[in-house]
Amino acid sequence: MQLNFSGLRALVTGAGKGIGRDTVKALHASGARVVAVSRTNADLVSLSKECPGIEPMCVDLGDWEATEKTLGGVGPVDLLVNNAAVALMKPFLETTKEDFDRSFNVNLRAVFQVSQIVARGMISRGVPGSIVNVSSMVAHVTFPNLAVYSSTKGAMTILTKFMAMELGPYKIRVNSVNPTVVLTAMGQKVSADPEFSQKLKERHPLRKFAEVEDVVNSILFLLSDRSASTSGSGILVDAGYLAS
Ligand code: NDP
Repeated sequence: MQLNFSGLRALVTGAGKGIGRDTVKALHASGARVVAVSRTNADLVSLSKECPGIEPMCVDLGDWEATEKTLGGVGPVDLLVNNAAVALMKPFLETTKEDFDRSFNVNLRAVFQVSQIVARGMISRGVPGSIVNVSSMVAHVTFPNLAVYSSTKGAMTILTKFMAMELGPYKIRVNSVNPTVVLTAMGQKVSADPEFSQKLKERHPLRKFAEVEDVVNSILFLLSDRSASTSGSGILVDAGYLAS
């Protein structure tokens, strides 16, 4: 998809690896200035070499104070991709307070915090904006050992609608993308058992998982004016899984 984001500044969280990293590359290639936020500095160093001119910011988004310190003065942002997440795999009965807190702090609380910082800036500048929350198909269906992770994504569904409702009057659109398994580091972890992985794939009407590029394309579409009348919504990138 050929989109032009020249003149716009984007912020992508979880930019070091996987979907976030390729989102940064696609936005950079489409003319945006990009703030790349992630936890491991080495990832940001290598990404900066691939995409000269991006602005790397290294922070643990699960730490509210550190995030405020790092991103509080981030300056004008027109496009935001809330992508960073952790997928802790545990059965419901074995999930600890620490698992719960870490998952919700990174996957949901940081979405609140970063979006507040960015949206306040958009409103004070009087400019329109677009925010994409990277969710998952497990916001809608169960998956083995992902009770707490899925809960963060389920909560993200209603948060996306609230943000769309409250920010819409300021011409800020908010949507989500909801992928099935994508074979990044995270996707390989949740589908590690080859037999389970094969059976899962066969349950998808398209008999495949999603590619990183498929997810990035949907993110870029929702960031762009091509989706100008879409807000509070979500795009399933699930190879038909929810229809199965
Ligand atoms: P990866 O684990 O491959 O990459 C996640 C990135 O986010 C890493 O760069 C990681 O940095 C960063 N990150 C994680 N925690 C933090 C934190 N506390 N602070 C700052 N950065 C952080 O994941 P994916 O690319 O696969 O996932 C991206 C998004 O897509 C997530 O929201 C995920 O829930 C969603 N998704 C993924 C699916 C999949 O199968 N892969 C399926 C459906 C949805 P570091 O490695 O340094 O911690």
